[in-house]
Amino acid sequence: VTVDRARLERRIAELSAIGGSGTSVTRLGLSADEQRARELIGGWLRARGATVWRDAAANVYGRFGEGTGPAVLVGSHIDSVPEGGRFDGALGVLCAVEAVEALLDDGVRFRRPVEVVGWCDEEGARFGIGLFGSSAAFGRLPDGAAARADRTGLTIADALRAIGESGDPVRAKRETSGLAAYLELHIEQGPRLAERGLPLGVVSDIVGILHARVTVYGRQDHAGATVMSARQDALAAASEMVLAVESAARALPDAVGTVGEIAVRPGAKNVVPGECVFSLDLRARDEATVEQLTRDVRAAIRRIGDSRGVKSSVDVLSRVAAVPLDPKLRDLFLRCAKQVGVDAPELFSGAGHDAENSQLAGVPTGMLFVRSTGGSHNPNELATPDDAVLGARALALALKELAG
Ligand SMILES: [Zn+2]
Repeated sequence: VTVDRARLERRIAELSAIGGSGTSVTRLGLSADEQRARELIGGWLRARGATVWRDAAANVYGRFGEGTGPAVLVGSHIDSVPEGGRFDGALGVLCAVEAVEALLDDGVRFRRPVEVVGWCDEEGARFGIGLFGSSAAFGRLPDGAAARADRTGLTIADALRAIGESGDPVRAKRETSGLAAYLELHIEQGPRLAERGLPLGVVSDIVGILHARVTVYGRQDHAGATVMSARQDALAAASEMVLAVESAARALPDAVGTVGEIAVRPGAKNVVPGECVFSLDLRARDEATVEQLTRDVRAAIRRIGDSRGVKSSVDVLSRVAAVPLDPKLRDLFLRCAKQVGVDAPELFSGAGHDAENSQLAGVPTGMLFVRSTGGSHNPNELATPDDAVLGARALALALKELAG
C-alpha cells in the first residue's frame, strides 16, 4: 500500500489549525471548532465518494464500498483537551482517512463496507463525560448525559441542538450486528515506545479504572493552643494516605495510583485541618489487579486513620472494567506492523479509549499505537511524519485484509 505522505502531512496541518495556535490545540467536544473539524473531515470523505452523515451524538461517519454485510469501522476522536496537542485522537482519524484513500488509490475494491468515524467529545473536558460519542453509539451513555452542563450552564442537549441535532444523543445507538470490527490508531500516551525506539505498538488491553473520593474527618482546632499530642489533623492523616496510595501501586505489576486533587477545610494557616477530601485514581491492566489495589488502598486508609484517631470514608464515583481487546485483531496488527518493517510490542493502554466501548458492546476491536515523543495532552505531543506514515500503512494493510 502506498500512503501519500504529503497528503497526510498537509491534513495534519489543516486539522490542527482548527482550534490551534502553533502546536497547541484546543478543540473541545461539541464546540464550534469541533464542528468545523467534522465538516473538514466529512468533506475529504465525500470527495472520495463516501456517503457522509452525522448521528445524534455528533459523530461523523463516511461509508465506502457497495459490499453488503457488516462494515469495518475505523477511526478515532476529533476533540482535544484544552491546550492539548495536534495528534491525540486527530492522528487516528487522519490515518483512517489516509488508509482508505491509499487503498482506493491502489485500486482496491472493498468487498465489505468500510466506515470511517470521527468520534465526538472523547476527552470529556467540557461536560465531564469521557468517551461521549462512542458511548452513545454503543449504547453505553450514563443516564441523564444530555442534561450535563458545561461551566457556562449550557447542556449537551443545547450544544447538540445548536448544530441541528435533536438534543437526544441516546438516538445515536447503532446495531452492533452491522459492524464486523472496529480499528483505532492512536498515539501512545506514555513513553514506552519512545524508550524502546519503536514507532508502533499493538494494544492488548485497556486498563480498568476506579475513581473515588476519600474524605478524612479530623478535628478543627487552634493551631497555637492545641498541643501536638491532642490533635486529630485531617491533612496530616491524608498526607500519609496519599503516600500509601503510591506505595500500594508501586507494589503491584502494571498498576498506577494517583491523588490529583486535594481540598482542606477550613483552609487557614492558623487552623488545624478539620476535614480533608482527596481524589483517588487507581488503574491496572487486569481486573484482579484493580481489585487488589483497591483492597490494599482501603486497608491502608483504615490503618492510618485508626493510628491517628481520625475517621474516613471512601466513595466510589466510577468503575470502568479492564477490557482485553480482540486477540485476532491484535495478531492482525502485529502482522501488519511486521509487513511495514516494525517488530511491534504488545502494550496495554493506561488511558481509556473509544475502543473500549466497541469491544464491550461485542464488536471485535483492535488498536494500534503510534509513538509520541513529548507525551500527550500537551502541545509537545508529536508523532513524526515517518511514524505517522508507518501507522497509516499498517492500518491500511489491516483494512485491506478485513475488507479488501
Ligand atoms: Zn485520545
